[in-house]
Amino acid sequence: MIDVKHSTMTIIELIWLQSPRKHLQQDAPMNFQHSSAQKNIPVILGGFHPTLLPEEALQHADAIVTGDAESVWQNLLNDAEAGMLKRRYDAAPSQPQQIILPRRDLFSGKGYLPISLMQFSRGCMNECTFCAISSFFNQTHRTRLISEMVREIKSQNLKMIFFVDDNITMNKEAAKELFRALIPLKIQWVSQASIDIACDTELMDLMAASGCLGNVIGFESINPQTIREMNKTPNRVSEGYETEISTLKRYGLQVWAAFTLGHDTDSKESLYDLYEFALRHKFTFAAYNVLMPYPGTPFYEKLKQEHRLLYDGTWWNHPEYHFNHAAFKPAQMSSNELTDIAFDIRKKWSSPSTVIKRSLDLKTNMKTLQKMMIFWKYNLLFRRETFKKQDMKFGYGDIGSGSS
Ligand code: SF4
Repeated sequence: MIDVKHSTMTIIELIWLQSPRKHLQQDAPMNFQHSSAQKNIPVILGGFHPTLLPEEALQHADAIVTGDAESVWQNLLNDAEAGMLKRRYDAAPSQPQQIILPRRDLFSGKGYLPISLMQFSRGCMNECTFCAISSFFNQTHRTRLISEMVREIKSQNLKMIFFVDDNITMNKEAAKELFRALIPLKIQWVSQASIDIACDTELMDLMAASGCLGNVIGFESINPQTIREMNKTPNRVSEGYETEISTLKRYGLQVWAAFTLGHDTDSKESLYDLYEFALRHKFTFAAYNVLMPYPGTPFYEKLKQEHRLLYDGTWWNHPEYHFNHAAFKPAQMSSNELTDIAFDIRKKWSSPSTVIKRSLDLKTNMKTLQKMMIFWKYNLLFRRETFKKQDMKFGYGDIGSGSS
């Protein structure tokens, strides 16, 4: 997802480039900077891209913010008002979103999905080699106060919440404390978690009791060697995921399984095995992501050393790069083959016959009328997205509309 938020506060224009896990939209800051420069308004860039590539970001802005902005924001505003903006504001890690509640009234009547986005924690302490989250947060994980979470939930009308945490169960004791506090609020929620949640019965009980409908879970691969090489420690794939998956089903949780394609151990055949695995378990949704070499990650550095990066090592800025294309030379196939196989698997996964087959899971996708509706509504939406986004060029869309 790319989130480009504009703040026209008369003294500055702000662009927040969030989520390099998906893509960076190359022309957004440049176009915005150009129009703002014409109006003589300073441009500030913040978020993942400026944090991971500060020197590059500085070429397109009057100032940048690296890290979480909260702790430097007031200073930045004071400097801007005094006409003494610094070039760079490096924010120290701090507890997220203290006291601040978002202005949700601004979304009213603007056609957003009836889901509230909130955040309990930021970052992740795991060190998966391909993960930009891990690099951005320097393997740290920080949580908000539970009382602030309760206050924010009570302040809004929507009772369906997406906690947009990178890994909501990274600190399991903190997550349990949150889930206990959610129970009396009678909300329903989804989030992102790692597969090891299934090994903690108390956590699973609290998760279900607090209204969890399901989670995005990063399976990444079904090959133990691949998991070892990417250093994804929560995934105990040597035992086959079978126990964990049956636990998730026993609690009726719908799973959005996320996979990464193109590891050195991946062959053409093993990628299709991955697809068969997901189909066999009738996951509600699945993401088949071509591995992206994000700058600042160990994966990027390894490919650079091995001279395997394509697009001059800057795919996010390259005029020839297209969305969902491999940006490196895989070990066991060509980059075009990897791109084509990933797209082929996405098409198979969202074909009408496959969607019908996956829907027939009494423990999850057919468990309640609500879960059936979630399954059908979003599978049809994701099918459209599969075709719409493939091969898209960066920088030619509507910069105001984030997408995932
Ligand atoms: S567990 Fe997920 S969020 Fe954490 S480092 Fe690994 S891929 Fe990133």
